[in-house]
Amino acid sequence: MPVLRSLIHLLRCVRLRSCGRRGKSRLPPWIRKIWAYMRLLLQSLCFNSLTNSDVVFDSLFEPIFWTVEYVTRWFGVVFVVLVVILISSIVVIAYIVLLPLILNTYSPAWIAWHVCYGHWNLVMIAFHYYKATKTSPGFLPKEISDTPFVSVCKKCILPKPARTHHCGICNRCILKMDHHCPWLNNCVGHFNHRYFFSFCLFMTLGCVYCSISGRNLFIDAYNALERFKHMDMEKPGIPVTGMGVLLGLLPPGQVHTFQTAPPPYTFKDKMIHKSIIYMWVLTSTAGLSLGALTIWHAVLISRGETSIEKHTNKSETKRMAQKGRVYRNPFHYGRLNNWKIFLGVEKRSHWVTRVLLPSGHPPYGDGLTWNIFSVHNDLIPV
Ligand SMILES: [Zn+2]
Ligand SMILES: [Zn+2]
Repeated sequence: MPVLRSLIHLLRCVRLRSCGRRGKSRLPPWIRKIWAYMRLLLQSLCFNSLTNSDVVFDSLFEPIFWTVEYVTRWFGVVFVVLVVILISSIVVIAYIVLLPLILNTYSPAWIAWHVCYGHWNLVMIAFHYYKATKTSPGFLPKEISDTPFVSVCKKCILPKPARTHHCGICNRCILKMDHHCPWLNNCVGHFNHRYFFSFCLFMTLGCVYCSISGRNLFIDAYNALERFKHMDMEKPGIPVTGMGVLLGLLPPGQVHTFQTAPPPYTFKDKMIHKSIIYMWVLTSTAGLSLGALTIWHAVLISRGETSIEKHTNKSETKRMAQKGRVYRNPFHYGRLNNWKIFLGVEKRSHWVTRVLLPSGHPPYGDGLTWNIFSVHNDLIPV
């Protein structure tokens, strides 16, 4: 704040000059009185022994933060509805367009694979999305007198245990807060972090599955639409493909093309082609972006960090390095153990029942105290 600094400097100069001429000031008393009053007013507005550049920055940008938080809070439901509509549209296309095609053209083994995998993936996505949105991330209890705390929340005026952070959108302190997710309209914290990650993972798998298994359909549908457009411009002409283009799905040897001119495109054909293009473009882009997000969170989980701790740990590492010391993340229990703790895996069978199947088991600990695990890797089972 150069303006503020120069103002304070000016005041100091004036004070020094007035001190130097104490008793000799020729200004009338009423002007000196007004001047003293103005000085007091300015200092009462600006002076604070705790004020630093961060506080000034926060105060200046407070209206912007407030607007973003307000919009996110009120548009949270819109984002959730959007996610549900997009997922539902892909499911509808899969049932109405793809499933009949698969049933008519694929061998029984491939039919079994697509039906089983597709439904398992869909169940996992729906379950984890529902749980991530509906599960409370974990709030500070009213009475936390016995809980060791590391700082005090300036907004809630409550002691904060380790890993707890204040969310401006929820306007509450969240236990082991990771971030506030607008797509869930919920904070991601201690009790729903696993649901959030599993949703991202299974959503990515679902998108990649749709994108890979639908790539031939997409190419055929795209070419068919292009050809149709071309024919439209060069009438008269006879369309040479109908549903035949979708036969790209057939295994080699079973593909047969129309030797004679098939019936022209119908409205239904066009809709099918457009649906396939929509599905492929949406699942491919969502798969790429969600895949990157999932990998990012997987790296953080491996390190025993949340998204917020990623930044705090980085600055802490730098600070300790300047003192010639090495910072060690106290919540890092070893890569595999971090995953076991995160997923709630206590024995081998849990990898199937708790990770690959829908499971509502609670996470380790209460989110308030973090000294429940030994840092020795061998003490954690499995
Ligand atoms: Zn708070
Ligand atoms: Zn929040």
